Amino acid sequence: MTLDSITRYDPDQLSQREGHGLVVGASMAGLLAARVLADAFETVTVVEKDRLPTDATIRPGVPQSQHIHVLQKAGQEMLDDLFPGYTQELTDAGGLEIDAAVDFDVYIEGGFLAKGPVHMPMYCASRPLFEYIARKRVAALENVTIRESCQFVGLVTSDDMSTVEGVTVRTDGDTHDIEADLVVDATGRTSRTPTWLEDHGYASPPTDLVTTGVAYSTAILERKASDHRALVVFPTPPNRRGCATFPIEGDKRVLTLAGYHGDHAPTDPEKFCDFADSLPISDVREILSEHEFLSEDIAFYPIPSNRRRRYEELEEFPDGLVVVGDAIASFNPIYGQGMSVAALQAVQLHHTLATDASNAIALQFFAAAGRIVDEAWKMSTGADFKYPETSGPRPFGTGITNRYLSRLIRKAHTDWRLAEAFGRVGFMETGGLSLFKPMIAWRVLKPGG
Ligand SMILES: Cc1cc2nc3c(=O)[nH]c(=O)nc-3n(C[C@H](O)[C@H](O)[C@H](O)COP(=O)(O)OP(=O)(O)OC[C@H]3O[C@@H](n4cnc5c(N)ncnc54)[C@H](O)[C@@H]3O)c2cc1C
Repeated sequence: MTLDSITRYDPDQLSQREGHGLVVGASMAGLLAARVLADAFETVTVVEKDRLPTDATIRPGVPQSQHIHVLQKAGQEMLDDLFPGYTQELTDAGGLEIDAAVDFDVYIEGGFLAKGPVHMPMYCASRPLFEYIARKRVAALENVTIRESCQFVGLVTSDDMSTVEGVTVRTDGDTHDIEADLVVDATGRTSRTPTWLEDHGYASPPTDLVTTGVAYSTAILERKASDHRALVVFPTPPNRRGCATFPIEGDKRVLTLAGYHGDHAPTDPEKFCDFADSLPISDVREILSEHEFLSEDIAFYPIPSNRRRRYEELEEFPDGLVVVGDAIASFNPIYGQGMSVAALQAVQLHHTLATDASNAIALQFFAAAGRIVDEAWKMSTGADFKYPETSGPRPFGTGITNRYLSRLIRKAHTDWRLAEAFGRVGFMETGGLSLFKPMIAWRVLKPGG
């Protein structure tokens, strides 16, 4: 499910109802869940283990914040629906609206994608700024309380374990319970729900692990205010290395180097630049030599594997609990889709709450959330499986799809309509199947080019 197939958020669909909703984790998925719970519950509490900054700064619970983050079109539209004026607020705070047709260069499969006469706005900012604006908007909701420095330690259940009735939290050394009618686990990749299910007589979700040995190394550079260039160099086998750089607020540029299967960019600045030299185009090295480093350290983030918990395959799940965001699936962010997946899931949670007033909504929600994850998962693992060393369950048809996509991309070096079609899938505007429509397929499969 993507932007073109999801039913949009409808504020009139839910009239405020009784009860207390509780979200664990105040990162993007948790904030978005809190936003939709605020329509459905009289009160909502968000518990977050970190002390939350009063500005757009990095915090320990979201270590990926130091790395490049792009908000794709699907996420942007969902955020603007849920928080009207979100992107305006983002740009007012220094984020940039760039035009992909002018400012965004994509080097993939040995060439740059062609650009067409289609205006495609993209919003660029640091990850802390994306989250800070969402946090401000959630904090301003009168029925939502965000409890910072409040660590979730466990779920509270009915005696027969059939219903989650709240959470146990630790704050300032004191441990106590908070009752809730619905608990949303938005604790990200380290979610303990699978273990909890196993320990309490439930099946835990089947888990797909796709091992890629990817790591990201990121520097912050200075930037001229007029320089809006964004560039992605996708790793293309046999080369395992890639790069992405985007302008962000404060006249800065974030530049991330990535490598598959242990071929990681060093965090020593000189060796970082040497790694950039080994990329197939000289643009990255030029950007590095023309701009001062602003960060003292180069941040490093390994993602050894993509992990998908297939909650949608469970037959039983306790009432009063759902799981969202990276806690369901966290994948190689090569296409930058995690926040958009979280935003699409939040809107789907809104629809689930609107159609079912009970707290037994998990399986219905997971079915829809799984269809959202499918799109991002197929794209990111599809890229990962281009490397023979990648191991794990391959989505059906990966080999043939990759061969087709490779041909599509090479033709898209000169055919902007193919580049646009590929871009719209990456932006989660439309699903991967759109690339097989006759209008596209004939351009891909016709001889020549
Ligand atoms: C290197 C990298 C680059 C990325 N780039 C992009 C990109 O370009 N575009 C994009 O859309 N996505 C990107 N992503 C993915 C994106 O960061 C996530 O998908 C998105 O932040 C949603 O995550 P989440 O909210 O589910 O979990 P997280 O961001 O992991 O947040 C979990 C939250 O739960 C809190 N928490 C955890 N345990 C507890 C506890 N016991 N008690 C209380 N609180 C707790 C944490 O402190 C944190 O606030 C990238 C990821 C990585 C790793």
